[in-house]
Amino acid sequence: MAAPLARLVLATGNPGKVEELSALLGARYEVEARPADLPETVEDGETLEHNARKKAVEVRDHAGALAVADDTGLFVDALNGIPGVRSARYAGEPADAAANVATLLAAMADVADGPARRAEFRTVIVAAWPDGSEVVVTGIAPGRIAMERSGEGGFGYDAVFVPDEGDGKTFAEMSAEAKNAISHRAKAIEALLGALD
Ligand code: IMP
Repeated sequence: MAAPLARLVLATGNPGKVEELSALLGARYEVEARPADLPETVEDGETLEHNARKKAVEVRDHAGALAVADDTGLFVDALNGIPGVRSARYAGEPADAAANVATLLAAMADVADGPARRAEFRTVIVAAWPDGSEVVVTGIAPGRIAMERSGEGGFGYDAVFVPDEGDGKTFAEMSAEAKNAISHRAKAIEALLGALD
């Protein structure tokens, strides 16, 4: 009889992320969503890695199993890396994607279209094992901030982010498949899969 699969507990309860990661990791791990009785992690770190590690360690200690957490930010050159680690709440509490995009476009109103509007999405994933070992991987999608919103797909800052690897469309104008082929999160997951080998 085959050995039972090892447990891998995600720090997220977001159904989209759970589904995406279960599809990729399900052959090798028994993938579980964030335990419902675990309070939300306070994401107060100054880096994506700090926040991802904090989430992974809290879940690992609660579940007693391998835990995987991610944290993502949009880093804009002309704004010295802002909104960065605070991307989700750039326009304040509660988190509001439309307000975040409006705040970003207003902050960049004087920045000319072209290379001056360079930015990148970064995703850091931390995998933490009960024995204290860990793996940290990063995925980056370079691009630029558009002058205005375009497209209805995606979420967050997608309507104003034009990836370098696309054909000039924003993430929000691309199909989910096209975005997933080049996104920061997809690249980080690919790196994680390599590191788990
Ligand atoms: P999280 O770490 O996945 O919660 O992401 C933090 C914030 O970054 C989110 O609230 C979104 O505003 C933004 N974000 C993350 N990933 C993406 C993406 O793929 N497209 C657009 N915005 C994103």
